[in-house]
Amino acid sequence: MAITPLMPVYPRSPVRPVRGEGVYLYGEQGERYLDFAAGIAVNILGHGHPHLTKAIQEQAATLMHVSNLYGSPQGEAFARRLCDNTFADTVFFTNSGVEAVECAIKTARRYHYAKGNPHKHDLITFSNAFHGRTMGAISATDQAKMVDGFAPLLPGFRVVEFNNLDAALAAVDENTAGFLLEPIQGEGGIRPATHEFLSGLRAACDEHDLMLVFDEVQCGVARTGQLYAYQHYGIEPDILASAKGIGGGFPMGACLASEKAAAGMVLGTHGSTYGGNPLAMAAGQAVFDVVANEDFLANVRLKGERLRAALEQMIPNHDHLFESVRGVGLMLGIRMKADSRAFVTYLRTKGLLTVSAGDNVMRVLPPLIIEEEHIREFVDTLSAAAAQYEVPAEAA
Ligand SMILES: *Cc1c(COP(=O)(O)O)cnc(C)c1O
Repeated sequence: MAITPLMPVYPRSPVRPVRGEGVYLYGEQGERYLDFAAGIAVNILGHGHPHLTKAIQEQAATLMHVSNLYGSPQGEAFARRLCDNTFADTVFFTNSGVEAVECAIKTARRYHYAKGNPHKHDLITFSNAFHGRTMGAISATDQAKMVDGFAPLLPGFRVVEFNNLDAALAAVDENTAGFLLEPIQGEGGIRPATHEFLSGLRAACDEHDLMLVFDEVQCGVARTGQLYAYQHYGIEPDILASAKGIGGGFPMGACLASEKAAAGMVLGTHGSTYGGNPLAMAAGQAVFDVVANEDFLANVRLKGERLRAALEQMIPNHDHLFESVRGVGLMLGIRMKADSRAFVTYLRTKGLLTVSAGDNVMRVLPPLIIEEEHIREFVDTLSAAAAQYEVPAEAA
């Protein structure tokens, strides 16, 4: 048999972590990696954080799963905290980011259905977006690598250019349900939406009674130095998908909505066997305990500025490799002149973990608990690696 036991859909790297501690991962032979990938923006408290670990251990021994058929004191408590700290009035818990996006799409369509406008089912989405890998989520993108071979895609999506307000407004017609976008694109290459773009979309939604849906699966949960990225812009969505950092490594997600937006999500319209189980709620609460306060968020902004400044200072020394730094808080990307994928692979051999993204960007997504010493270690190791790196001939 030629196929591997793990379905071979990922280019698995020789990095094989078996243990984690703080911002470090350790491989099978004890090799140490500085983890500035954080499981792709997931392990926001690093690895083995005592408060999160203890909460999961205690909850696992107390009650792991029941069913959404029963009352959920754990879910109610966490949903209330999310609502108290955001625009939202109600929350549906999921097990992953894409399920949160699916719930967001269904909530937006169902809003119009409930208002007697079932024809308003189209979401306008944007170039280079990433919303996950279900049939619904891949139908919302224009990226060939995600959709090839999976036709027919679901109807009801129209992709226009990101950050192009005129194109977005021109795409609105009588079938439009709303807009679905990442306020800061992650996989697409750390591309923040402009303020004019988001405020223009918000105004169009208010004018035409459309749903503004933010996919904050990657940029949410303190990553940018605000609990959610929309708070930087001061522009509230009607519906928001959250995941990745929300469980700090425990798989969970959430679809947040205003009372108005959730008007159609009545009894029996949606569900999940595991979503919002007591174990996930304990993990989410523990992460929230740490990150949902102004001191923590201010520290993320400060560390983000320090890291960014250090990277910007380093770039001119390696301007054959690096172009510029972009992003917000600790959601940073370095636009590269050489192939970012090959460079990310090379950095792993130097004990540094980062993530490549679209637009030839190397993402720098450390745990949010990093100290100055980790920033120094990262930038020093990166700079030394850049000096040694020989750009592969075909990618030069
Ligand atoms: C990762 C991601 C998703 C998908 O999340 P999964 O947990 O992999 O399903 C959706 N949207 C954005 C913006 C993401 O970064």
